[in-house]
Amino acid sequence: MTAQTVAGAPTAPLLDFDDAVAAYEPVFGLETHVELSTRSKMFCGCATTFGAEPNTQVCPVCLGLPGSLPVANRAAVEATIRIGLALHCTIAPWCRFARKNYFYPDMPKNFQISQYDEPLCTDGYLDVEVDDRVFRIGIERVHLEEDTGKSLHVGGATGRIHGADYSLVDYNRAGIPLVEIVTKPVTGTGRLAPAVARAYVTELREVMRALGVSDVRMEQGSLRCDVNLSLHPVGSTTWGTRSETKNVNSLRSVERAVRYEIQRQAAVLHAGGRVVQETRHFHEDSGVTTPGRSKEQAEDYRYFPEPDLVPLAPDAAWVEELRATLPELPLDRRRRLRDAWGVSATEMQAALNAGAVDLIEATVAAGAPPRDAYKWWMGELARRANESGRELAELPITPADVAALCELVASGRLTDKLARDVLDGVLAGEGTPHEVVAARGLEVVSDDAALQRAVDDAIAAHPDVAEKIRGGKVAAAGVLVGAVMKSTGGRADAAKVRDLILRTLGTNS
Ligand SMILES: [Zn+2]
Repeated sequence: MTAQTVAGAPTAPLLDFDDAVAAYEPVFGLETHVELSTRSKMFCGCATTFGAEPNTQVCPVCLGLPGSLPVANRAAVEATIRIGLALHCTIAPWCRFARKNYFYPDMPKNFQISQYDEPLCTDGYLDVEVDDRVFRIGIERVHLEEDTGKSLHVGGATGRIHGADYSLVDYNRAGIPLVEIVTKPVTGTGRLAPAVARAYVTELREVMRALGVSDVRMEQGSLRCDVNLSLHPVGSTTWGTRSETKNVNSLRSVERAVRYEIQRQAAVLHAGGRVVQETRHFHEDSGVTTPGRSKEQAEDYRYFPEPDLVPLAPDAAWVEELRATLPELPLDRRRRLRDAWGVSATEMQAALNAGAVDLIEATVAAGAPPRDAYKWWMGELARRANESGRELAELPITPADVAALCELVASGRLTDKLARDVLDGVLAGEGTPHEVVAARGLEVVSDDAALQRAVDDAIAAHPDVAEKIRGGKVAAAGVLVGAVMKSTGGRADAAKVRDLILRTLGTNS
């Protein structure tokens, strides 16, 4: 086994990943924070619009001014119960909010209203698929709390507090409802641990989207992840000491953070050292984690029941009403679509990762054969989205356009090559596929007389080639096909042209 280091980063020795998972079994857990997209905050009536002028969406309650009193947001409680139900949790018939005391500049009250030993939802699961295997991820708890404000560090190169000239605080986010979803320890994933962790967050995001409870934009911080992970020797039943990596803010980072911690901890253990229980920070740029503060224990927060709020006691009839509002769960939907479209689990996973499932479904609904719809979105369009650094859904083309394109190809009016030219036109804002075909004159030459003329011209221009073909050298026809394709601007069906040339010269093949 060899140790590696990461260049240009605060380095820790790393063990090769394959060696690490051959010797050690990872156990990981994920804590995910989801900002709910309610119109008002958790305990006051302030607006929650993202990107508003700093400190314009605040009031005495979310600023924690003396004498102000919180009132729980019913829509946020409903959303949390629906999340709990979608994750197969038990909904507590009675629970309480708790004060979590700590001092931090972006938290004006010096405590956060959260839930502690009485969470709203407990003991559920979420199934995820990786490599055609289903992993059932246990859900320990789902609870409701309020978000903190946001510090902005000005000056300095990194935007972090170190090296900054001064810091500003924006309290617009303080008090926005936040749902925390905590998994049970995930075991038995071995070398698939990074992929399973990523698949879990992806699936969770899909569930939130289907429920319509959050916009789940990781880049805006409305879905954030902490990853804790430990290793123990393969065959051992005693788990190792875990690290907790904070604020892992993209799906790719979840996968990288798990992988990195496996390699880092394996190197520590392999060298005979001990893993330190600590909080670590993930660096998006270098893909490494570095140590932060040593982990607080629960008692450091001096939790106690929130005295300013009444207990939360959702009655059974209300919970059942909310259960009836649950949509088809994303994994069930993808399994149904997989059968309907005739694609493999891997192909469906690729469509999910590309954000293409809804687009393909809408294209099929607009009349396209599923295979064709899949091919265009996951092939040509995915490539163009990738090249321009955009999401598929951001491309200026609608599912109806793609369905029209499929129809033009299926009816023989466009070849695949011409269809790609039509895509160029649609993406350039020249209109629908039919409008682009008309404006650019891209349609396949379907007029047989016109095609015959083009063939006759090509034969006349290349008498020597024609002679070879008549003499049995059928392979020479390629030259004439090329000439016809050129004279028609690529708007002819090459196979049809070849047939026509051979027939004209009295050769069959
Ligand atoms: Zn407020």
